Amino acid sequence: MTADVLIRGGRLYDPSLGLDRVGDIAVSGRKIVFVPEGEAVEARRSINAGGCIVLPGLIDVHTHINRFGTYIGMNPDIAGIPMGVTTMVDGGSTGVSNYRAFLHQLDGYETKSRIALNVCAGGQIMSTQYTENVDPKVWEYGLFKEAFEEFPDKIVGLKIRTSRNIVGELGMEPLKKAVELADRLGTRLYVHTTNPPCTMAELTAMLRPGDVVCHTFHGVGNTLLEDGHVAPGILEARRRGVIFDVSQGQGNFCIPVAQTCIAEGFYPDTVSTDLNRDSWNNPLAYSLLMTMSKLLAMGLPFDRLVDGVTRAPAALIGAEGEMGTLREGSCADITVVRLTERAVHFIDKHGNSLDADRLLMPMATIIDGQIQYRSPDTL
Ligand SMILES: [Zn+2]
Repeated sequence: MTADVLIRGGRLYDPSLGLDRVGDIAVSGRKIVFVPEGEAVEARRSINAGGCIVLPGLIDVHTHINRFGTYIGMNPDIAGIPMGVTTMVDGGSTGVSNYRAFLHQLDGYETKSRIALNVCAGGQIMSTQYTENVDPKVWEYGLFKEAFEEFPDKIVGLKIRTSRNIVGELGMEPLKKAVELADRLGTRLYVHTTNPPCTMAELTAMLRPGDVVCHTFHGVGNTLLEDGHVAPGILEARRRGVIFDVSQGQGNFCIPVAQTCIAEGFYPDTVSTDLNRDSWNNPLAYSLLMTMSKLLAMGLPFDRLVDGVTRAPAALIGAEGEMGTLREGSCADITVVRLTERAVHFIDKHGNSLDADRLLMPMATIIDGQIQYRSPDTL
């Protein structure tokens, strides 16, 4: 057979398909093609994936990529592609006043993207210095409706931040109104939960099935833990279908909180970085593969880890079966990594650390059949 790209001799791994075997996989045009065992393939380009793991293209479901519109925005192609990321979702960097310019900008990148629309008209422009106005009194329903109707394939939800320093005396009122707004719009709500003005159990009790808790393992103020264990209210929220996303960030991740949750079998549904211009390339956050390596070191099973950056986020953005999978005929977004044995020292912003002995290294990134990055080791 002939193909455009052949990926040779890697461990093909996609838990959503029950796929785990060493072999070849190919790309024809923009689609994935399976290579029958023993079949010779003539390809224009060939990637040597010996000793590597071939995964569906990684989806980072929480990032900040409004490079030209906010201080915190980073270039998705530079921050993601060399680190194996094929799709990024922006977590509310824009609102109803400026999302058009943002979507226009995103068209110019190779990285695939979606956005969550901030409830604040101007979006989140800084991390902490200037917080966004989340007062529901100034929300105009018609503007939200217009955005969601015009870009149903690009805008994947609403976003609100509920930290004490952002909501102030409004307390939980903005979240309550945001849930109502999301309900009326028929969309998902993403909630930044670090240092909330109530317990995390109370917060998650306000969410609907399919709404997303960002910063699941944060360690500021009220966390997921009560009396040193995952709170019963959190387990109840999960039973109801609330989604728990890592959204690591810098100050939104606490190693002991994550360790306790994982030890108790409370695994994140999706694994994401919350990378922005400050945290990208910073040892606290650095990249999606670094976040994944950290969770792996804490004992998150590998199949759950991979699901959290492939099938699960694809489902969140309405692309399950098309993205985040190695299914034959699906779009050829493919990430090749190597799980290397080496000493790693992970840290968090609270002064905790974790020593590990394995690190996921990026080897190749293919988006829609195009090789966008490859390590010289794959030549
Ligand atoms: Zn964020």
